[in-house]
Amino acid sequence: MADEKEDQNKTPKRETPSVLSDVAALAKGMQRTLGEYFSPQVTLQYPEDKSPRSERYRGRHYLRRYDNGLERCIGCELCAAACPVGCILVIAAENTDEKRVSPGERYAKTYEINMLRCIFCGYCEEACPVQAIVLGPEYELSDTSREKFVYTKEMLLEPLPPDVQARLDSKSEKK
Ligand code: SF4
Ligand code: SF4
Repeated sequence: MADEKEDQNKTPKRETPSVLSDVAALAKGMQRTLGEYFSPQVTLQYPEDKSPRSERYRGRHYLRRYDNGLERCIGCELCAAACPVGCILVIAAENTDEKRVSPGERYAKTYEINMLRCIFCGYCEEACPVQAIVLGPEYELSDTSREKFVYTKEMLLEPLPPDVQARLDSKSEKK
């Protein structure tokens, strides 16, 4: 017991300063710094550079048209029924000979997606019988008001990005 107390009272021995050990420590530090400096970069200069997304990535939606310009959507509301969070609104109207919007009997007069509620599950794309609604690779969806996150039909009918078209083509080839 007495020996233990004696040991505790002893002050720890200090190593004798040596220029050689300081230089060695400095060289070791510099070796690590230079090693990191010349190693390949892992950070990306976002937003100029973006990391590649998987072929199956699901981001912003697009509504598609046929080559003749007619809208694919036939207003059947299957996508709205399949949506687990109820963020799709479809209001259908009848096509007429004077005003033909889609090849079917009906078309989507109103088509809206509330992006703030969407969980990007892709069920709407799976449910659509005519591949009218598809999810693209875009994930930069920030905006300045809640209202701007309700994507209207006009916004969704923008031309498809080339990588979405490539994904759809490979999907139909596999069928
Ligand atoms: S991706 Fe899912 S949550 Fe989003 S609109 Fe489609 S079905 Fe609804
Ligand atoms: S997007 Fe497809 S599932 Fe949805 S209403 Fe149009 S045709 Fe029907």
